[in-house]
Amino acid sequence: MTATAHTYLLDRPGGSFTRADLPLAAPGPGEILLRTRRVSVCQSDVVIHKVGLPRIKAWPAIILHEASCTVEAVGEGVTRFAPGDLVGLGCDIPCGDRACIYCGDHGTGDWTCCPRTQATGHEFPGFARSHAILPKWFVDLGPIYRFPAGTSPDEACHLEPLACGLEGMTRVNHCIANRVVVLIGAGSQSTYALQCCQAMGARRIILVNRGVERMERVLRDFGDQRVVGVRWDGNVVAAVFAHCKPFNEPHFVMMNAPCREGYELAVRLMGYGTVLDAHAGVKGAGGKPRIAHEVDLNNQVHYQLQCYQATHGSSWHGIRLAGDLIAQGKLPRLGLMTGPSERFHPDQMLAAIQRASTPDSLKVIIDWD
Ligand SMILES: [Zn+2]
Ligand SMILES: [Zn+2]
Repeated sequence: MTATAHTYLLDRPGGSFTRADLPLAAPGPGEILLRTRRVSVCQSDVVIHKVGLPRIKAWPAIILHEASCTVEAVGEGVTRFAPGDLVGLGCDIPCGDRACIYCGDHGTGDWTCCPRTQATGHEFPGFARSHAILPKWFVDLGPIYRFPAGTSPDEACHLEPLACGLEGMTRVNHCIANRVVVLIGAGSQSTYALQCCQAMGARRIILVNRGVERMERVLRDFGDQRVVGVRWDGNVVAAVFAHCKPFNEPHFVMMNAPCREGYELAVRLMGYGTVLDAHAGVKGAGGKPRIAHEVDLNNQVHYQLQCYQATHGSSWHGIRLAGDLIAQGKLPRLGLMTGPSERFHPDQMLAAIQRASTPDSLKVIIDWD
């Protein structure tokens, strides 16, 4: 165990990182001490770095939330974890009130619905730090997935973004396995979803994107005989329907493009039994715009069985699904999401965030080893 913990503090939105070195503390009763191994950069971190986030009330802030860590030490009474365990962490975490009807010991577990929900890198300090002590409520109730020995920390740090996608892909039953799936956008969320669809046995996966270059990278590195790419141009709806044959329409449409046009396209693809996962929200300088769409509850929802749904973030449900897929080796191409120019040392924190904001980047990883 090193005797010093390094924390990278972001002074303000748009600002820079300063390293603070503090002596390493020992975990108290019920707590665990984690040593950070890898942190991947989320697009939400890129936005926080650029313009901040209302949920972050105090600056300087410790951002980043997609982490894999090794348990260094456990406090008195901890039995679920032992030194040496490799763990991955969720971003959305319980509010810390053990009596909470969402997050507490007898809660529903839907902590993203709790009015006092918290997230690592927002209200709770993130993982731009070499070590973290997790409090007892986090250890007992929070999303900490323990990987089997031998799991790579490079793969384990993908746990949280995978979990968010899997929440949306499994909120409604029977819409991925043996079904036709459309993914709108070819960024990291679609690339994760594509790999999950393959692992879950989708029949066909149709990737829709405006830019050709990114789509070609995703098709080249992650494609197989079930995957087709469709250019998002004037002919996109007819082209998608043609690839659904012998079905008339897709079974599942995952909207991963955070723009109005993404929703406008998604609703045109709805057919018999189609589930829409409104996965990417739309947010701009002016807040969250209203995007109206008329649905016929009788003909479309009742008779045609259409479903309009979404999730944000992840609970234990998504974390478990994602962890199991990684642990069972069902996502063998995760490593291809991070090219040689997308790996950084913690002292290059700002460069890592800037690289993640470039259009050809799928996943930036900061390596603490
Ligand atoms: Zn994330
Ligand atoms: Zn709560």
